[in-house]
Amino acid sequence: MTNKTAITVAHGDGIGPEIMDATLRILDEAGAALDIDEIKIGKDVYEGGVPSGVPDEAWDSLRRTKIFLKAPITTPQGGGYKSLNVTIRKTLGLFANVRPCVSYAPYVETNHPNMDLVIIRENEEDLYGGIEYRQSQDVMAALKLISRPGTERIVRYGFEYARANGRKKVTCMTKDNIMKLSDGLFHKVFDEIGAEYPDIEQDHMIIDIGAAKVASAPHMFDVIVLPNLYGDIVSDIAAEVTGSVGLGGSSNVGLDFAMFEAVHGSAPDISGQGIANPSGLLLGAVMMLVHVGQGEVAAKIHNAWLKTIEDGIHTGEIFRAGTSRKKVGTDGFAKAVIERLGALPDKMVAANYNGVPAGGMKLPPLKERAKEKKERVGVDLNLNWDGSSEELATKILPCTDEGLALSMISNRGVKVWPNGLPETFCADNWRLRFKGKDGGTVKTSQVLALMQRLNEADMNFTKAVMLHTFDGEPGFTVAQGE
Ligand code: NAD
Repeated sequence: MTNKTAITVAHGDGIGPEIMDATLRILDEAGAALDIDEIKIGKDVYEGGVPSGVPDEAWDSLRRTKIFLKAPITTPQGGGYKSLNVTIRKTLGLFANVRPCVSYAPYVETNHPNMDLVIIRENEEDLYGGIEYRQSQDVMAALKLISRPGTERIVRYGFEYARANGRKKVTCMTKDNIMKLSDGLFHKVFDEIGAEYPDIEQDHMIIDIGAAKVASAPHMFDVIVLPNLYGDIVSDIAAEVTGSVGLGGSSNVGLDFAMFEAVHGSAPDISGQGIANPSGLLLGAVMMLVHVGQGEVAAKIHNAWLKTIEDGIHTGEIFRAGTSRKKVGTDGFAKAVIERLGALPDKMVAANYNGVPAGGMKLPPLKERAKEKKERVGVDLNLNWDGSSEELATKILPCTDEGLALSMISNRGVKVWPNGLPETFCADNWRLRFKGKDGGTVKTSQVLALMQRLNEADMNFTKAVMLHTFDGEPGFTVAQGE
């Protein structure tokens, strides 16, 4: 029983139990040294009254083993159930989602035979904070949060991953031409951290053209590092382009914990029929074995799997008459992989995990940075208003004073006062920007006094955001047209 790695396993919902059984059988036959602790999470647990879908015993097991092999879960529709995946990722601090996207041509049909890229998606920040507000009858707002430490960690993970896995290039994708502060920070940190990795080619693409290129020319890419939402979208595009979502494995990695799974979901449409492809979960388990320092067993399984695919032994969803040789179910596929343990693929490049560090990437501490000088220079107040911008300005101007002047009104991000255009459509939530005189600093008491006067004038606030500069650089963007 020595040297076994304790892991937590959840069989999940839908096809989960079928593909997990097949995966564990292959791991066992390959000689993986694992001490398995099984937990129940997902649909039954939700419906049993645990709103997170994860009971206390499951957390205890995860805290103990720190390694989680998870089959897909069905999130019940409606009823206010929280996504279990998001809960687990956030609770365990799994900041990096790693998805290799590889095509297996000519054995699996794809339009892109030379695709072999890895998506590294930031997993905790961005719009996935789930911080949203209804600001008025007509306007909803979601908060996009990008932090420097969060970005530094994921970007460094991307470069360290590239080095450890013999990858040559890292591409960053953002929309910093529009989101100059949040995406701008991600891009800036990518350039800063990238400078420490001169051995690795690096570039940045705007997300829209980047996503299009992943779909049309995926061979251009090696490692791609992205903020959360773009990473979510691009990783699904990339998985789809490989030719089968059923073949992708993925890891979610943090400083202390790691979770491994298939990219696909619980496929309720084929559950219980014994036809599901266990490959996605199996390749997730291969990533787990590398992570826990059993790289040799990982390579043995990965190569047996590649040989099975090469030999044309395929489950129904990738079976093509002419290319495939034998159609098998979940069990038959697992048996075929087990029979090939010890074999190498004939044509495809064999997997080799020598030199990949166990225990995941050891990241250096975050960069030390000098404290920047922060000065308050104004305030943005949001309020509801059903009239025009001119009427609103007329109502507001008497409430201002010399210390804090109304500099601009915007609606849906576009400046509408002063000198707005009559064509601009306005909704019922407005942003008023007040700035200190001559760009000077502003005291909290001045802001509160202004708000008091506006309140007395029956103004209906929904939000206040202080405006600061940092070492003299504005910590806020200008409105479109300002
Ligand atoms: P899905 O990935 O489960 O299925 C999409 C299609 O792909 C289906 O036609 C399915 O039959 C097929 N498919 C998926 N995996 C396959 C496999 N291994 N072998 C053969 N065919 C396979 O996506 P969905 O239908 O949108 O979602 C179903 C459920 O899964 C939902 O409740 C969703 O919330 C959940 N889900 C869970 C996870 C997870 O736990 N990580 C991820 C995605 C979706």
